[in-house]
Amino acid sequence: MAKQTGMTKARIFKELGLKARLQGASTGGGWFADSGDWLESRSPTTGELLAKIEQASVKDYDRVMKEAKQAFLAWRAVPAPRRGEIVRQVGDALRAKKEPLAALVSLEMGKILTEGQGEVQEMIDICDFAVGLSRNLSGPTLQSERPKHRMMEQWHPLGVVGVISAFNFPVAVWAWNTALAWVCGDSCLWKPSSKTPLCAIACQNIVSEVFARNGLPLGLSCVTIGRGATIGEKLVNDHDVPLISATGSTRMGQRIGGIVGQRLGRTILELGGNNAIIISDKCDLTGALASAFFGAVGTAGQRCTSTRRLIIHEKIYARFMGKLIANYRKVKIGDPLDPKTLMGPLIDEGAVADYEAAVKAAKEQGGKLLYGGKVLAPFGRKTFVLPTIIEIDNKAPIVQTETFAPILYVMKYRRFEQALKQNNGVPQGLSSAVYTDSVAEGEAFMSYLGSDCGIANVNIGTSGAEIGGAFGGEKETGGGRESGSDCWKTYMRRQTNTINWGGEVHLAQGVEFKP
Ligand code: NAD
Repeated sequence: MAKQTGMTKARIFKELGLKARLQGASTGGGWFADSGDWLESRSPTTGELLAKIEQASVKDYDRVMKEAKQAFLAWRAVPAPRRGEIVRQVGDALRAKKEPLAALVSLEMGKILTEGQGEVQEMIDICDFAVGLSRNLSGPTLQSERPKHRMMEQWHPLGVVGVISAFNFPVAVWAWNTALAWVCGDSCLWKPSSKTPLCAIACQNIVSEVFARNGLPLGLSCVTIGRGATIGEKLVNDHDVPLISATGSTRMGQRIGGIVGQRLGRTILELGGNNAIIISDKCDLTGALASAFFGAVGTAGQRCTSTRRLIIHEKIYARFMGKLIANYRKVKIGDPLDPKTLMGPLIDEGAVADYEAAVKAAKEQGGKLLYGGKVLAPFGRKTFVLPTIIEIDNKAPIVQTETFAPILYVMKYRRFEQALKQNNGVPQGLSSAVYTDSVAEGEAFMSYLGSDCGIANVNIGTSGAEIGGAFGGEKETGGGRESGSDCWKTYMRRQTNTINWGGEVHLAQGVEFKP
């Protein structure tokens, strides 16, 4: 398999320091584990065993956390631009390993190679962003009400940041968090998805080499691969971790948010989406078609920002659907490492079962299957499905939930206000888009009367965000923001300073207090 790219499993493993048997805990200076509890990483495409990983035990977690805390104490005293210089080197190390790392993402997670390459490019981009940021972690100077006083805000390093990531972006989400956290002066402990442990080990090998070469504390980048119920719970309950950045399902976010909230820690929650594109009768159908197709079929529907719903003006509905179904018929399904493939497998049999259950439920709830609805097994393993289109009412219970598979629900509208209501009429609030040439519709969509999502695009689809913007969503998507803009602030401790340079004591609000 994957002969076309030249990236065989053996070559990927050699370039990224992977072996058939690995261990799941790292403080940067190598790998260890003593749980005796082995995790298998299997190709979602063929089911081939890629490697076995001994998971981290609670004892391993304690050892890793000790290093992470010590590393923080040293790293916070390093000037931020110097920290940025290290992150620049991390970006360069990722550039050097872009091809094998992208191929590993395809091999272990199943997204097609061009998307794996895009994911690694995202890591490089966020490093570049963080380098610039390292010279601009600035707070304002404020006017004091008291004579000969000055006020200002400073941002200080926060501590150990816990990063919990989902399987579908097995390397980029970690980089979004760590590149910012490192320039902010924090150390990081990563609990990756147990479905993509090799991607985590490869990333750790790449960055550890950079920290070691620079004589820095290795605990700046720590990893514990282990069960959510043991290692995951240990991390979220740890009072020594002031910030947990967790990406995954809404159910996971509800649990983690509750635990961290109880100990009054800080969270960035990046949870499920249910993203729609409104396709107006006043739009360029070619662009709308390209965006809907990529949004719904790309990554086999396994992006948090995947297009799950199309809300189409009734006048163009039949014409648009004809073209979309014609595109669906041409989707080449197969080995994600083959450059001709457009759609790879779902992550595992569980995801296929969720797909089948959703198709069945949609039919029972009045949905009409327009395309797909079938499970495939091109390599003998039932992890592939046909991308699927179902015409259905927005209020159907199945449409209200996120099924992490390439199922697109389509519906009609007559008036734009009705389309907006449908767009907002789900519990999630991550990404949304409108295709329209009407300035009034585009502006209304982005206004306070419009989309209630964290991302609202005009003439661009719901998926494929750039790193420069703040990424995240509202409602059941969790309210967190990460990546660009001013998201760095969550990784730092804010401090307000008032300085009296006049000598005389003045109480605020004119309060008098003298003996
Ligand atoms: P998941 O919720 O099953 O797992 C996510 C991570 O949480 C994994 O590392 C898992 O081990 C960990 N986890 C689960 N329970 C835990 C616990 N009790 N304590 C600590 N850690 C725990 O999600 P998944 O199937 O890997 O990913 C798909 C989901 O992620 C989808 O819902 C998708 O929308 C969402 N997602 C959201 C974003 C975003 O930015 N909003 C990005 C990517 C994925």
